[in-house]
Amino acid sequence: MRERLYIFDTTLRDGAQSLGVTFSLADKLLIARMLDELGLDYIEGGYPGANPTDTAFFAEKRPLPSAKLTAFGMTKRAGRSVSNDPGFADLLKADADAVCLVAKSWDYHVEVALGITLDENLEAVTDSVRAVREAGREALIDCEHFFDGYKANPGYALACARAAHEAGARWVVLCDTNGGTLPHEVAAIVAEVAKAVPGDHLGIHTHNDTENAVANTLAAVQAGARQIQGTLNGLGERCGNANLTALIPTILLKPGFADRFETGVTAEKLKKLTHASRLLDEVLNRAPDRQAAYVGESAFAHKGGIHVSAVQKDPRTYEHVPPEAVGNARKLLVSNQAGRSNILAELERVGIEVARDDPHVGLLLEEVKRRESVGYAYEGADASFELLARRMLGEVPQFFAVESFRVMVERRHNALGQLITISEATVKVRVAGEIVMSVGEGNGPVHALDQALRRDLGKYQDYIRDLDLVDYKVRILTGGSDAVTRVLIETRDRKTHSRWFTVGVSPNIVDASFEALIDSITYKLLRDKAPAPETLAA
Ligand SMILES: [Zn+2]
Repeated sequence: MRERLYIFDTTLRDGAQSLGVTFSLADKLLIARMLDELGLDYIEGGYPGANPTDTAFFAEKRPLPSAKLTAFGMTKRAGRSVSNDPGFADLLKADADAVCLVAKSWDYHVEVALGITLDENLEAVTDSVRAVREAGREALIDCEHFFDGYKANPGYALACARAAHEAGARWVVLCDTNGGTLPHEVAAIVAEVAKAVPGDHLGIHTHNDTENAVANTLAAVQAGARQIQGTLNGLGERCGNANLTALIPTILLKPGFADRFETGVTAEKLKKLTHASRLLDEVLNRAPDRQAAYVGESAFAHKGGIHVSAVQKDPRTYEHVPPEAVGNARKLLVSNQAGRSNILAELERVGIEVARDDPHVGLLLEEVKRRESVGYAYEGADASFELLARRMLGEVPQFFAVESFRVMVERRHNALGQLITISEATVKVRVAGEIVMSVGEGNGPVHALDQALRRDLGKYQDYIRDLDLVDYKVRILTGGSDAVTRVLIETRDRKTHSRWFTVGVSPNIVDASFEALIDSITYKLLRDKAPAPETLAA
């Protein structure tokens, strides 16, 4: 019998503290779904009541079948009753399965930062945990600065942990908030705490300020903690949080952990890890870390001649785990084999069945490589990848053809003397032998083009009526002599609530956006099995 180890993701809360990271509501919904599909136990969604995006996120319909959605906030203020603390009351009202409260456990912080007595702080912990439970939510307490607090005053730090546990907190989470604690200290302190609070109620939350967040988390698990907290790609303020993209495969694949523990992430779900990591980067408009453990592009790349020939004889010569286990791929810089298995894995992921030796696979590989060399990236654009593959298999009819488009951007003063910018687009489309011309207006050229294109698609108009452009991301890629623009578009179907992503690349931002828009509409027509134009024209 293996023991259950719980995984708590805080990408959307602590991870949002990273410099340069802001999640939109659409980003949060997408990432939450992705984390849920990975099989994580808890998803910390943010601070409802304290921040408008987070409040909207908790109010949104967001089916997360397996994970417990967790709201984050502070313990109630000392000297006030729970019902007299409006911030705390708002937190309890949020539509969440669990509530994680941050509490002080370092005597110095209680007296200096909070300015209350040590007993008042313990009372706040007890009352807050009880209130969370009475509201029908699972309670977690994040003991802030626990390790520094323990070093300064072990008795008080332990008293905080015990108070939370005795009040009924499901998890007492020991936080290395400043990130300066080392693995041998974490091991010793967690072992001591586990004598007062049982390990299956202890969590660990570490930061990476000495590049030891993952090591500290593993040390805590060995010392008895049974919940681990972290973020995808190690996002988080300063040097980041414990990196779940490294922790999860370590726990699932490495002896000493794999044989002792089980998590909600199955071997099958683990194969989605590389995709999840890259999708997060794509959503955040960040370049993926090529050298990231397990999921980086070069994590299984072999360059030196001796390495390559040894890996071809037996991959175990230079690989600590098989790349497929985490959804990554071996890269041998002399062979095409790696690319082929990569493409096959991607095809399977988007639901296209082809035989392993189908010649289309090689052609598709060549085309993807060519496109990637000019700036395309399909990690974040499943719909465009699927279209590319199905086009190659001859499964995509030319529903419509854009004969021409024109976009005008005008900046002028309006009647009130305010400076305004408006865009107007004209699109000429051929649909089933018929030419349709439409004009659209918008606050920018892409918006105007989208409006024009969707105003009239002739016989296909009914298919695209419920589309919304949800999100639009632009990245300027520099490399070679000229900069090119990559545009990623997220589209939603209001009726079915499904979403898909498409990509376009061009030196011209309007062209790149247009390409992604066309893919998005074509994808919708294909998915809804719209009839080919020949059958319409007849
Ligand atoms: Zn933290």
